Amino acid sequence: MVLSSRFLSPRLRASAVHRVFRPRCCLPPTQYLYRRKYSASTLLGPAPTTLAVNRQRLWDTLHYTAQWGDSKDGGVRRLALTEEDKAVREWFVQEAQKYGATVKVDEMGNLFAIRPGQNNDLPPIGIGSHLDTQPAGGRYDGILGVQAGLEILKVLHENDWTTHAPIAIINWTNEEGARFNTGMLSSAVWAGKATLEYAYNHVDPEGKTFKDELIKIGFQGPVKASYLANPLSAHFEYHIEQGPVLEDEKKAIGVVTGVQGMLWLIVTVTGRSQHCGTTPIDRRRDALLASCRMISRVNDVAWENKGLTTVGVINSEPQSPGTIPGKVTFSVDIEHLSNESMDNMAASVRSLCQEVADKHGCTVDIEQIWRSEAVEFHEDCINAVRSAAIELVGDDQYRELPAGAGHDSVNTSYHCPTSMVFIPSQGGISHHPSEYSTPEQCALGTQVLLNAVLRFDEQLKKKS
Ligand SMILES: [Zn+2]
Repeated sequence: MVLSSRFLSPRLRASAVHRVFRPRCCLPPTQYLYRRKYSASTLLGPAPTTLAVNRQRLWDTLHYTAQWGDSKDGGVRRLALTEEDKAVREWFVQEAQKYGATVKVDEMGNLFAIRPGQNNDLPPIGIGSHLDTQPAGGRYDGILGVQAGLEILKVLHENDWTTHAPIAIINWTNEEGARFNTGMLSSAVWAGKATLEYAYNHVDPEGKTFKDELIKIGFQGPVKASYLANPLSAHFEYHIEQGPVLEDEKKAIGVVTGVQGMLWLIVTVTGRSQHCGTTPIDRRRDALLASCRMISRVNDVAWENKGLTTVGVINSEPQSPGTIPGKVTFSVDIEHLSNESMDNMAASVRSLCQEVADKHGCTVDIEQIWRSEAVEFHEDCINAVRSAAIELVGDDQYRELPAGAGHDSVNTSYHCPTSMVFIPSQGGISHHPSEYSTPEQCALGTQVLLNAVLRFDEQLKKKS
């Protein structure tokens, strides 16, 4: 995704792109949810084995690795390609090797810890998430998904269980986009949605390039970052919900059916800067007043379309209490489960802004700077997760929901069957040191993940 900072004042421009216009990832989900219909006959049978995850080991390991980037307030600050990221990666590699996996590193530093199966001609079934965090992040977002993968590796190893397809535990690089300002960057390169050159040229706020920093920590691997050169049979991602829905509804497990679409507009309203005291109220072209009326109506668009709209940034010029604002720029974030509705909402925003601008003697220019399509996950993977959830918690204790935030699974879903498992987040809080899920919740989600992967593996076996 390409970001524009032209609408920001020059003073703010350098820092604000990193601070304010961070691309979407791991943000709270929308309140607009849907439930998919399924028939009992589509459920898969019981998991092919009764392998059990080790709750205490998972919990201890999760908190052990929080030492790399420990923010001393219960959270983790582990930005991509820093010394802390290097340390946790080195630990990941050693740990995976201890339990019988071989670690492949690709050009983006994505790590694939591969445990062989019975049929190693098949691409591995991926269990992926991320070990990088937000600047003031928690101990669970992303990290839990990778740790759960390692726990599964340990369970398979100690039980001497060989899956049909190989299994790959994946750590995707720079999912958060907190340091290098594009979220899900490395899975995007793997998916062919971004070029290697584009990714390598990202710079952090200090001007250091992604490529140099990747080389510096020793994780620029030889494997091509590509779904063609390094394919997956499927991708399962386990994550905290990061929102309040599961907790509010007292559900233990979320079966994630897709990810909503997201779109950004930058609206520039131009009026005329004039003296506040000498310009009569009926002769003004007040760009900020017009913008306020637009912003109020942008919110109506969300209600009318059962979607979400947010104005998160406003800049007014010339920033003088004695001058009528002559130019305003503001951002509009639009989200919907349907791409068509999302685009209709954008069209509504465009027309209402034009109408309001005309009334206020202003002109308006609207630029779309980013669009991420809504994605529906694959029925085979959803079904594997759903079947595992029902088996473990029953029909009443799970719900289906879309992810409101971007995840690497969006990118994998373009090239292999994909789904996700959610567990509740206490208070719906995420991207904060107080992010929390209980040891029982963390273990339950891992068990659902394991059983879903084993079910999917069984299906692959039947097909081959
Ligand atoms: Zn995440």
